[in-house]
Amino acid sequence: MAILKVARLGHPVLRQVARELPREEILSPAMRQLVADMKLTMAEYNGVGLAAPQVHCSVRAAVVEFGENNPRYEVEGPQPAIVFFNPRITVLDDTKAGFWEGCLSVPGMRGYVERPSKLQVDYLDEHAEPQTLSAEGFLATVLQHEFDHLDGILYVDRLADPTRFAFNEEYARFHAG
Ligand code: ZN
Repeated sequence: MAILKVARLGHPVLRQVARELPREEILSPAMRQLVADMKLTMAEYNGVGLAAPQVHCSVRAAVVEFGENNPRYEVEGPQPAIVFFNPRITVLDDTKAGFWEGCLSVPGMRGYVERPSKLQVDYLDEHAEPQTLSAEGFLATVLQHEFDHLDGILYVDRLADPTRFAFNEEYARFHAG
């Protein structure tokens, strides 16, 4: 297991559309290793989600996990780890929900983003078995943020209002609460 280097804003890998994973590749030892390393990397940096392109691997894989005491977010947890391959989102409720998002690829910053509040995700799990998950609230936002990474989209692309984009310290001082 290894903590991986996280690509930062400006690295081209974050702007690529990641490729779909065939079943045999999902089941491969290399993919098992990647997922284990992604979980370790996410935990190391107190992330709540991590997409494979963020660790320089342009494939449609992402992990999400958060506890109740994450130092970076006040979250509705705990959310046990889920591994997603080839996820597809169906919006169930387009009513917008807004959160101050952060990203391990845009370190030290926060931005306010509004996204659909409820969705369904169809994906393949670590056994390459199809699964369906419904999500709302913070989890729905995290999933949309992570799956955006698979299409080369970052949350900074989705800022509705550039005045609500801040360094962590200024966010805490002027915008939080
Ligand atoms: Zn991100």
